Amino acid sequence: MATGMALGGAPAHPAAAPPPDLPSKFTPAAYANPASRYGPFATPDYYTYADDLVIERNQPGKPHQGKVLAAIQPHSDDIPLYAGGAVAKLIDEGYTGYLIRISNDEAAGKTAGYGVVQNEIDNHAVAKALGCKKAFSFYYRNHRMDDCAEIEIRARLIFLYRVLQVNTIIVMDPYNHYDENPDHLVAARAAEAACWMAGGGKDYPEHYKAGLKPARVREKYYHARSPQGHNLVNRVVDISSYIDHKVRSNVANKGKGPAGAAGARLRQQLAQEGRKLPSLGNDDETANFQYVKQFLMDDWMRLGERFGLQYAEAFRYIGPEPNYRENLRKYVDTNAVAL
Ligand SMILES: [Zn+2]
Repeated sequence: MATGMALGGAPAHPAAAPPPDLPSKFTPAAYANPASRYGPFATPDYYTYADDLVIERNQPGKPHQGKVLAAIQPHSDDIPLYAGGAVAKLIDEGYTGYLIRISNDEAAGKTAGYGVVQNEIDNHAVAKALGCKKAFSFYYRNHRMDDCAEIEIRARLIFLYRVLQVNTIIVMDPYNHYDENPDHLVAARAAEAACWMAGGGKDYPEHYKAGLKPARVREKYYHARSPQGHNLVNRVVDISSYIDHKVRSNVANKGKGPAGAAGARLRQQLAQEGRKLPSLGNDDETANFQYVKQFLMDDWMRLGERFGLQYAEAFRYIGPEPNYRENLRKYVDTNAVAL
């Protein structure tokens, strides 16, 4: 997928007119996302769309067969909330997927101990819901990652990139603006730097002596973190066909986040008041699924609407670099003359 044109036709732009009372010398450069109607954990405040913005639509067949995707999340709810649809889509299109969680999520649960145990269970359930082959956890302390050695997190990721032969990562944008969570930027920076170093021959040479091969991580999808964010977006992924995967991965987060058993709780609360929401169905499992789909997915539906899609997720995508060496060789072959 070298260019966007191959993915979804002509570059798309959202329809947005500047406010009529704005002096003409000001041209808006960032687009405000419609505020969530039902949940706080959703799309960020603003996106700036690059002029090569494309829509990544469903691709027929298994175009990613043989490729490996690492979905990396500081916490057990980050990938489900922000990129669950894209992960499920890429795996369905042929990727072998792995889920890597960096923290131990101790700060997210009824007690610290409960948070560690439940989120460990959840991380595996999320991986399963998205179709990942395996889930990993690094267990760094929650909300304390800025006190961890970033170089160690990076080294552990380099090891996994090489062992798993990762081609593509999905992770939080390492340049997220206004993110209050200290874990997010540390984890994302480590994941980004590990891409480059995992392909080199000089870093951690014992890996090679032990039989590992360099990893060529050539594609990156960086997602935003809400609600404060302002992110650069050059790829909108149509997740309409994978919205139920995304919903199930959020329901799988029982230990934390805005999903889990929230639907069942609302249903039970209404029942005590002698009321019900028909859309939540007649059992807890249905209530949890429908609650997430109807309320929590609202923001991705509203983002999708701007692009004529049912549901969408937005990314800063970095694709493979041109084959500089091969291009140079071709130029020399074409242009070199005899002495
Ligand atoms: Zn998080």
